[in-house]
Amino acid sequence: MAIDLAEAARDRGIKYFLISYTDLFGSQRAKLVPAAAIGEMQKAGAGFAGFATWLDMSPADSDLFAKPDPASLIQLPWKPEVGWVAADLWMDGKEVEQAPRNTLRRLIANSGCEMKSGVECEFFLTTACGTQISDGADTQEKPCYDQQALMRRYEVITEICDSMLSLGWKPYQNDHEDANGQFEMNWNYGPALQVADQHAFFKFMAKSIAEKHGLRATFMPKPFVNLTGSGCHAHISLWDGKKNLFADDDGELGVSKMGYHFIGGLIHNAEAICALTNPTVNSYKRINAPRTTSGATWAPNSVTYTGNNRTHMIRIPDAGRFEFRLGDGAANPYLLQAAILAAGMDGVNNKRDPGKRLDINMYVDGHKVKNAKKLPLNLLDAIRSFEGSKAVRTMFGDEFVDAYAKLKGQEWNNYARHLTQWERDNTLDC
Ligand code: GLU
Ligand code: MG
Ligand code: MG
Repeated sequence: MAIDLAEAARDRGIKYFLISYTDLFGSQRAKLVPAAAIGEMQKAGAGFAGFATWLDMSPADSDLFAKPDPASLIQLPWKPEVGWVAADLWMDGKEVEQAPRNTLRRLIANSGCEMKSGVECEFFLTTACGTQISDGADTQEKPCYDQQALMRRYEVITEICDSMLSLGWKPYQNDHEDANGQFEMNWNYGPALQVADQHAFFKFMAKSIAEKHGLRATFMPKPFVNLTGSGCHAHISLWDGKKNLFADDDGELGVSKMGYHFIGGLIHNAEAICALTNPTVNSYKRINAPRTTSGATWAPNSVTYTGNNRTHMIRIPDAGRFEFRLGDGAANPYLLQAAILAAGMDGVNNKRDPGKRLDINMYVDGHKVKNAKKLPLNLLDAIRSFEGSKAVRTMFGDEFVDAYAKLKGQEWNNYARHLTQWERDNTLDC
């Protein structure tokens, strides 16, 4: 039986609810609802003007209703009198097809099995204005796992980790990542929708707790040009009840035929889903660039897979699962899972062959591989592949694809109209 939010408010001392939805660009939008009004809101939803957020809507449209999913309720560990609930979107009595959470739910319902996912959120802690990393002493050329720099941010990192412990997410490690000022925090994997809700909440939580400490947490894919960017790797497996359908002791690297078909789907559709997994202009400055001052970006630049080797789009580190390394910090949590599930199931349903596993350093020897597909070089190419893909249209539906491509196309045009300092520096005297 669904949790009654009014009752939960009484039992847990919740005074306010944030009824929250994530729009197409990944921004979280919310109404703050007093507990006394939550009973009605749970039934009818909270009203929004859809056009005021990143959804393809018009100011003349009727009210958009965000109906909270009570199963997603999380009390803010840093402000327990507030309960956060993720919402699905409705308009004129119908589910909104372009809404990211609705889209993921729809894809899950159509998939016929359960995808489990573990996301690895990387982010930078910067000064409040976001222009530089917050720790002036964090200057090493190879700062990965730097114990000293990690401990200088102990208060922030452990407040976030303690919060995850109290929420029962089973966090298991935190580290200083490969860029100065960059960190990664990991918690247990789980069903795709649950993980997407947690991922959305994690971003909200990391930003909120960083702000409390006078800092800023940014998930921007490439905030500093010479430093490694922020990825959001996803470790994927597919389940039928308690059976991991990707595990097979006799399969190569312990992965089943079905697992390889799923990987085949990601290889086949990578360029087409890239606009979802790498959704911003800035995303393309993270991928396709092998080197940084620390020696490697660790981000993929080709549509290839491998064993335990971090220079490819897909890595199989262990039997029964693989790591999808393409997605970045800007990815909408719901659309990241949706893209992986849709592309993977397209592979399973069409028995797609992933091709040959490559056991080489792609950054050094990638050019020797004939026919290795390249990832899109910029957002515009990615949008074109996305909207032109028949498979994507079959998987996501035209309403979603047209809405997303339209808004992302507008974003690209805004960017293209923008005059950069580089142009002035390099072409003023041409
Ligand atoms: N930060 C790297 C990326 O952009 C990943 C580093 C790692 O392997 O954890 O994908
Ligand atoms: Mg990492
Ligand atoms: Mg990883």
